[in-house]
Amino acid sequence: MTLRTLTPGRLVAATHNKGKVSELKDLFEPLGFTVVSAIELDLDEPDETETTFAGNALLKARAAMQATGAPALSDDSGLSVTALGGAPGIYSARWAGEPRDFYRAMEKVEQELNDIGATDRSAKFVCALAVVWPDGHEAVFEGEVHGHLVWPPRGERGFGYDPMFVADGETITFGEMDPARKHAMSHRANAVARLKAALL
Ligand code: IMP
Repeated sequence: MTLRTLTPGRLVAATHNKGKVSELKDLFEPLGFTVVSAIELDLDEPDETETTFAGNALLKARAAMQATGAPALSDDSGLSVTALGGAPGIYSARWAGEPRDFYRAMEKVEQELNDIGATDRSAKFVCALAVVWPDGHEAVFEGEVHGHLVWPPRGERGFGYDPMFVADGETITFGEMDPARKHAMSHRANAVARLKAALL
């Protein structure tokens, strides 16, 4: 990968997920970026046709950069459950159906674990962050956080599968945790740390 820097300025967050937008703003605005989301810009949401987190992240960032001409940052992420062979993985959002209902998605995870009598409740969140520059240069950074799943879900904070995920070394779920604390240890924070080390 050619060395490249990301200069603080306008950065398009190529996501329609409000939870991710707010986490990306929290993570990048202190670094001097003005984060404008695909929601605010009313951008189309491309179909996630790739088979990996990195592939889908690149596809979303490319679409946002092409629509705006500005550097774009995207996040493709999800929950990977060991006993389910990595599911829901890149289908994490899709398991919530339309309109999105994450209680239903969490129930599906729990049901599938019960159906196979799984005793292994380990899981991880994975995040791929892609940056695409107006000249077409691209970079991807991945981060993970390992933990286990609890049932019933606990906590009203965070988003998605947060209420059923307890990170290693913790006793409370991401849904119960102070957002600043989640942001210091999450898969997204780990990917951001790698991005910062390489680009800032
Ligand atoms: P996508 O990357 O937009 O395809 O969606 C990823 C999905 O993974 C989200 O809708 C959430 O359900 C889940 N996910 C990703 N990151 C987190 C997180 O930090 N907490 C809880 N769920 C997450």
